Amino acid sequence: MRGYSIASSPNASDIIELAIERLPDGEVSPFFHDIAVVGDEIELRGPLGGHFLWPEHATAPVLLIGAGSGVAPLMAMLRHRRDLAQTVPTALLLSSRTKHDVLFGGELLALETADPQFKLALAITRETPERPTDFARRIDSAMVAEVVARLPRMPAHVFVCGSNPFVNAAADGALLAGLDAAVIKTERYGG
Ligand SMILES: Cc1cc2nc3c(=O)[nH]c(=O)nc-3n(C[C@H](O)[C@H](O)[C@H](O)COP(=O)(O)OP(=O)(O)OC[C@H]3O[C@@H](n4cnc5c(N)ncnc54)[C@H](O)[C@@H]3O)c2cc1C
Repeated sequence: MRGYSIASSPNASDIIELAIERLPDGEVSPFFHDIAVVGDEIELRGPLGGHFLWPEHATAPVLLIGAGSGVAPLMAMLRHRRDLAQTVPTALLLSSRTKHDVLFGGELLALETADPQFKLALAITRETPERPTDFARRIDSAMVAEVVARLPRMPAHVFVCGSNPFVNAAADGALLAGLDAAVIKTERYGG
């Protein structure tokens, strides 16, 4: 049994979309890539959790920070926000090794083009980013501060999701950038 975040919007159809990263030495994630086929039945429990939820009535800015498959619950939030035509200023700071590795990259870029209230910043760690608004290093406090400055004011909600080491580094970066610990929520994938 493993936990996987729902990446699809709660407003969408009855299809639940997951984004499962293949860990080469893992027990369960390679099953979904190498063995599972269309038509297989998977036993599900949940949804579980409850603290890592889109702030439905937010008027103050929202900052989302993720890495790798940690973008999954952030994607569900962004899709929900888009489906409800919400305009609360929102920024996503997303870390990835290369541009090719950015999950939902095309959809995120299209969302940024369509929505002036949504800012996307990629932290690309293993190649030179193409866009001047992206970064070529791991997430740190200066980077969080720069992304916060692209919002009209300090975010009142911050969501951080990814592996344990990533969440520790990103949450520390957010604190050093002056964000209040009380507004930071984290979701840890282990590792
Ligand atoms: C709330 C939550 C949400 C999550 N959402 C997602 C998601 O949306 N997408 C996603 O991809 N993942 C997500 N995860 C992570 C997911 O649950 C799994 O942990 C992940 O898929 C790895 O499972 P696995 O069975 O493939 O690897 P495992 O078999 O559990 O192994 C994990 C790692 O440990 C190493 N390892 C295993 N056994 C040993 C050993 N004896 N000694 C040393 N190293 C060992 C493996 O090499 C591997 O790198 C989430 C986790 C949580 C808690």
